[in-house]
Amino acid sequence: MTLQTGTAEKSGFTGRLASYERIVVKVGSALLVDPVRGVREEWLGALADDIAELGRTGADVLVVSSGAIALGRKVLGLPRGKLKLEESQAAAATGQIALSRAWAEALGQRGLAAGQILLTLGDTEERRRYLNARATIANLLKFGAVPVVNENDTVATNEIRYGDNDRLAARVGTMVSADLVLLLSDVEGLYTAPPARDPSATMIPHVEHITPEIEAMASGAGSELSRGGMQTKIEAAKIATGAGAGLVIASGRELNPIARIDAGEPCTWFAPAGTPVAARKTWIAGTLEPRGAVTLDAGACTALRKGKSLLPAGVKRVDGSFQRGDTVAIRDEAGALLGLGLIAYDVEDARLIIGRKSHEIEDLLGYAGRSEMIHRDDMALGVAARLNDED
Ligand code: GLU
Repeated sequence: MTLQTGTAEKSGFTGRLASYERIVVKVGSALLVDPVRGVREEWLGALADDIAELGRTGADVLVVSSGAIALGRKVLGLPRGKLKLEESQAAAATGQIALSRAWAEALGQRGLAAGQILLTLGDTEERRRYLNARATIANLLKFGAVPVVNENDTVATNEIRYGDNDRLAARVGTMVSADLVLLLSDVEGLYTAPPARDPSATMIPHVEHITPEIEAMASGAGSELSRGGMQTKIEAAKIATGAGAGLVIASGRELNPIARIDAGEPCTWFAPAGTPVAARKTWIAGTLEPRGAVTLDAGACTALRKGKSLLPAGVKRVDGSFQRGDTVAIRDEAGALLGLGLIAYDVEDARLIIGRKSHEIEDLLGYAGRSEMIHRDDMALGVAARLNDED
């Protein structure tokens, strides 16, 4: 990241954040927005100082900022409590303007340009749109600007939304090959039990692997302003660590939260998975919403586990309305998820060739398609990310 101005005497962080090259900073609504007074300017200014400092450390910084709905609520004078979908869309439409202005001003005062990116689920789930969004973000970083990302809540409906910026931040991190994702919210880290309910609960400083025990520690509690609770943070950690990035859950309540993390403030660090899978597999593994499913016979399941591609002959059925290149779930006959993969055929054509030998494809379809229905390079088995259809 290039700084236009900046204080010459400071030379970046030297603590725990010193070696990271690309960092996604997720900011929760409860930190940024006071329900009565609006944007917490002083807090945001101090965070912008931290971001500039990360830049001097040599890192590219991306922000994923919540707060559109919370700010819009105030602008439109909406009452507290749960909003209807159309109310939150209207709130986001007004609040996002205020949110972007606040970021542009705070970063601008520190010599940094802000670039607004509003994403919908399809922008990370469909490969063509994903590549497009990734290219825009990469260009912003090249020009030294700080991408400020949020979900495009004005057009997102319940069916097609991330819903929480924790997972969005992890997806954005995967998209740009970030090596660290910082989730700043009003919780200090992952506790062995919800601290409000269990006074003996202790914070876990380091998570090497996200085991079922770790998942069990995450309670569903969130704050009134933000959508994400501990569970969405653990989901985010699975996506980010599976893609080879570290993830930190830390409190952002005090001023300069990033400087505090650098200085060793207690929080929870999730280690990146040991062997980062290739970018393509990573992207596939992080899919939240596959377009369909293929159900395999037992022989094909065994072949896939041995690292083979999926041939039409081993497929018992296909479901959904996918097109060539879409991500589909790969299931065994009992319905258990084996993994995810990019399918080489539209659903209509896939239906015609399942159960058949690859050399029959040309006769069946009238063109010579790929002999694999899902190539092994286009497949991520043992995916950790929870899928929306399993909620
Ligand atoms: N996108 C939402 C907003 O900006 C926030 C989602 C969340 O709280 O995680 O208001």
